[in-house]
Amino acid sequence: MAFIIDGKKIAAEMKEELKTKVEWMKKQGKEVTLAVIQVGKDPASSVYVGNKKKACEYIGIKSLAYELEEATTEEELLKLVEELNAKDEVNGILVQLPLPGHINENKVINTISSKKDVDGFHPESVGALSIGQPGFLSCTPAGIIELLKRSNIEIEGKECVVVGRSNIVGKPMALLLLRENGTVTVCHSKTKDLKEITKRADILIAAIGKPKFITKEFVKEGAVVIDVGIHRDENNKLCGDVDFDQVEPIASAITPVPGGVGPMTITMLMNNCVESVLL
Ligand code: NDP
Repeated sequence: MAFIIDGKKIAAEMKEELKTKVEWMKKQGKEVTLAVIQVGKDPASSVYVGNKKKACEYIGIKSLAYELEEATTEEELLKLVEELNAKDEVNGILVQLPLPGHINENKVINTISSKKDVDGFHPESVGALSIGQPGFLSCTPAGIIELLKRSNIEIEGKECVVVGRSNIVGKPMALLLLRENGTVTVCHSKTKDLKEITKRADILIAAIGKPKFITKEFVKEGAVVIDVGIHRDENNKLCGDVDFDQVEPIASAITPVPGGVGPMTITMLMNNCVESVLL
């Protein structure tokens, strides 16, 4: 039986810590303000934006909502980002992705000031991470490092295998594990003998985007397994990239879906907002 890494509980603890920090900052006359921009009315994006707003309210962060029409032009969006960059009272800027097809996401990400890049997607933030300089960290991988540390799981010297190399999860995850002195291998859709590699992992991170892809054949006995995926299975139940029922009996620790990595992502965003005031 594996130890279940309780992301919900750890995220709640961190939120309390952040709330206390924000109260203390207010007493010093410093307010934390996050600007959230949503273009269009994609239902999933609206849920994410709503959850971010709720988290801000709970912690004491002021949130400014910009709900723009689907037909907003790239030029109009870039102009708004520039205006928010120039406002001293705005500490963090978040543009909810995905954007409508007529807007170039990279152009928008690159326009956000790296000092307000609370999602950690700006090339300067990613570059700083890769050369070990301070900067905003991508929220999901940073949340995974917190989950491991707060569950007393040592990373140093461990064989870490990340399956997935996306810019928002796989790549920054690999860099963060390396920063923590793990020995890191990154796998992707062109990797040969995937099972042979994942079976070496002391810490296995699954960020593939395929439901229940990681079955017990991919996992070494006693490994720590972190599941980033979020899907609905054939019974409309939430599940991850890992086949939990198969893998849990052989793992030493595992994150559930829901209640594992998911709750940490918004919490780390809140953490980045608080950090942004200190920059
Ligand atoms: P992407 O689709 O951007 O990346 C998936 C990665 O998996 C790619 O690098 C791809 O390789 C690799 N991959 C796909 N198929 C295989 C395969 N058969 N063998 C090995 N590697 C494979 O996904 P994201 O990184 O954005 O997200 C991953 C999952 O995490 C999704 O389910 C997403 O919903 C979830 N997610 C959850 C979050 C949370 O807060 N819990 C936050 C962000 C994402 P290649 O590069 O070669 O195509």
